Amino acid sequence: MKLKTLKQIKNLKDKRVLVRVDFNVPIKNGKVQDDSRIRASLPTIKYLLENDAKVILVSHLGRPEGMDKKLSLAPVLEKLKQISNFKSTSLEDRFPIFNQLPIVNLEQAKIAIETMKQGQVIMLENIRFFEEEEKNDKKFAKQLAKLVDVFVLDGFAVAHRETASVSGVAKYLPAYAGLLLESEILNLSQLMIKPKKPYIAVLGGAKIETKLPVLKSVLKHADFILLGGGLVNTCLWAKDYEIGKSLLNKDFKKEALRLWKNKKIIFPVDVVVGDLKGKKYRVVNLNKKNEIKNSEAILDIGPATIRLYTKYIKSAQTLVWNGAMGYFEQKPYDIGTLSIARLVASRSKGKAFGVIGGGETIQTMEMVGMMSDIDFISTGGGAMLEFLSGKKLPGLKALIK
Ligand code: ADP
Ligand code: MG
Repeated sequence: MKLKTLKQIKNLKDKRVLVRVDFNVPIKNGKVQDDSRIRASLPTIKYLLENDAKVILVSHLGRPEGMDKKLSLAPVLEKLKQISNFKSTSLEDRFPIFNQLPIVNLEQAKIAIETMKQGQVIMLENIRFFEEEEKNDKKFAKQLAKLVDVFVLDGFAVAHRETASVSGVAKYLPAYAGLLLESEILNLSQLMIKPKKPYIAVLGGAKIETKLPVLKSVLKHADFILLGGGLVNTCLWAKDYEIGKSLLNKDFKKEALRLWKNKKIIFPVDVVVGDLKGKKYRVVNLNKKNEIKNSEAILDIGPATIRLYTKYIKSAQTLVWNGAMGYFEQKPYDIGTLSIARLVASRSKGKAFGVIGGGETIQTMEMVGMMSDIDFISTGGGAMLEFLSGKKLPGLKALIK
């Protein structure tokens, strides 16, 4: 896939550039808790400013229904100012006075943009305050487009969304991929175009329904897929295992049974069962089908499975991981997931090209302190899965050469 990219824009001087970022970050008491998504778009913002463009940032935050002060982007703007650290230009110059949020209607935005100078940044208030955003309203998208000269999509994590500020506005303007988006597509494409073999994927997470499409697509390229997490429960149940109170989706019996027939798919050989509080737990070997009691739930992969998966991971030249192996939020059910995190990180950067993605997956990699050992960390959870499953992301359509 060849995208039109930011660096191909010939003359950015004085151009008004609408940049759709994903600054949907966790906020507590008016403070940003995790700024990694903001940092991820800094290169694009800086590139534009250093080339004398005028930058108008757009993002959503949470799921507001109409105006909701609690979901203002003001804390995000504060954070952006703190971490942006521009050379030779003062923050006041970069972020002009009228830049105070909220800019909640397009009339206000228009005035603000008219008075902007080159090299300055403003941010629109939470775009979901406009109900037109999620409806992908054409008129609204056109109005947004009228405010500026160029559109840049940088937030890969929203590229799978069909909304006014992502796919809508791009239809009415010259549209380009930002540096973050470009790097995501470049890196993830490596997993689909001639990945080095053996290619091992580790797939977990809570629900089978969200992972089946990506499973099918990864199967086309990968040599083995190691399964863990709640999605395994449905597979076990489909094969007449007693699974007690485990998370389950009964709608996917057929698909689950089909997975067992595929030799590329590797299932756990043992699991950890217990109560949600982690007080009572034990390892159950999966060679018998009626071992798990009604009061128990499957909450992690077991030690024999970790050993088995280690062998596969240690053979990999391409390695992808998405989805927790168990209910890692509660000890001792974190052991499977944290072991996989360490294994994937140890094999990456050198022996294998290692890629991870997904909110919880990244969180657990942070827990083991090995983020810097991974070759590529995707900022997209849902978007990464949809991209890997071969779907055409709506946000990319207008950016394709
Ligand atoms: P990611 O955000 O990395 O894509 P997912 O959202 O797919 O990961 O899944 C992570 C969640 O799945 C975690 O919150 C974890 O607690 C849950 N999970 C995994 N295995 C189980 C299980 N056996 N029972 C209950 N929850 C599980
Ligand atoms: Mg998740």
